[in-house]
Amino acid sequence: MRISDTLRLAAAATLGAATLTITGLAAPASAQVPASDSGCLQQGAADPADAARGGRAGLDHRGISLEQQRAIEKRTDRILANQKGGHRAAAALAASVPVYVHVMRDANGNGDVTASQISQQIAVLNNSYGGGGGSGAVDTGFTFYLAGTDRYNNTQWHQDLQSASYRSQTRLGGANALNIWLVDFSYLGIATFPWDYSSNPDIDGIRVQYTSLPGGSATNYNYGETATHEAGHWLGLYHTFQGGCTSTNDEVADTPAQASSTSGCPEGRDSCSLPGLDPIHNYMDYSYDTCYTMFTSGQSSRMSQMWSAYRA
Ligand SMILES: [Zn+2]
Repeated sequence: MRISDTLRLAAAATLGAATLTITGLAAPASAQVPASDSGCLQQGAADPADAARGGRAGLDHRGISLEQQRAIEKRTDRILANQKGGHRAAAALAASVPVYVHVMRDANGNGDVTASQISQQIAVLNNSYGGGGGSGAVDTGFTFYLAGTDRYNNTQWHQDLQSASYRSQTRLGGANALNIWLVDFSYLGIATFPWDYSSNPDIDGIRVQYTSLPGGSATNYNYGETATHEAGHWLGLYHTFQGGCTSTNDEVADTPAQASSTSGCPEGRDSCSLPGLDPIHNYMDYSYDTCYTMFTSGQSSRMSQMWSAYRA
């Protein structure tokens, strides 16, 4: 999940309430959303992650508990071990991902992004996943092409209400198809994880704030990198601040641990005593779009493995 500064207050208010209702539950993340609707939402600890961006730092780790995280890793290892090539051996792969864009307009036509914006969004995905973001960026081997665009007039859907219902009614393609629903909500984006596809294929994909597309009105977040970030979850990446200052962290060795999400682009931030500066330029942090430049080699490998295990 990602959320913008400008949307913080409203979200913090919402989340504050949500946090109250879930006090004392062992798994707050799933108290608010369908357990399968994991992605950013679950990962963000049902929103403490976002509340943290509003100034309540300290709550934003562990939407997925360490136990859940370990179980997911074990399951993935098991699947990959049974595949040709064996245990976590997946090398770089070249996967071409069909993208279905669902434009959810309200009754007044709000949210009606242009075909040009959608085309630019696909170009941003290809640039970011192709290593074109800046120095140190890795070509992940994933490319994206627009497989279809559909447009709906439904104010409730536009507002991301009944999301499980509207997703199941509109989703297209198989496990390998990236469905992007463009809506107007309190977040920049929410994603599902690949390991949840088999149990909930109908809602698989990412929901993205429509003003975050290139040329949109989401100040600091309108270069299309929200879709890059959410697609990263969809391909099996955690936030770089997952797990905080622990060696487990985000299950990726070459993204230094960080205590919490980053806001803006604070060069030199170093929030953990573990080696390395915070990866503020990584697409899986919360930095501004213009601050994002890279996926790492380790993230690229993880996405390849997750693709082999759950989406290929
Ligand atoms: Zn996220």
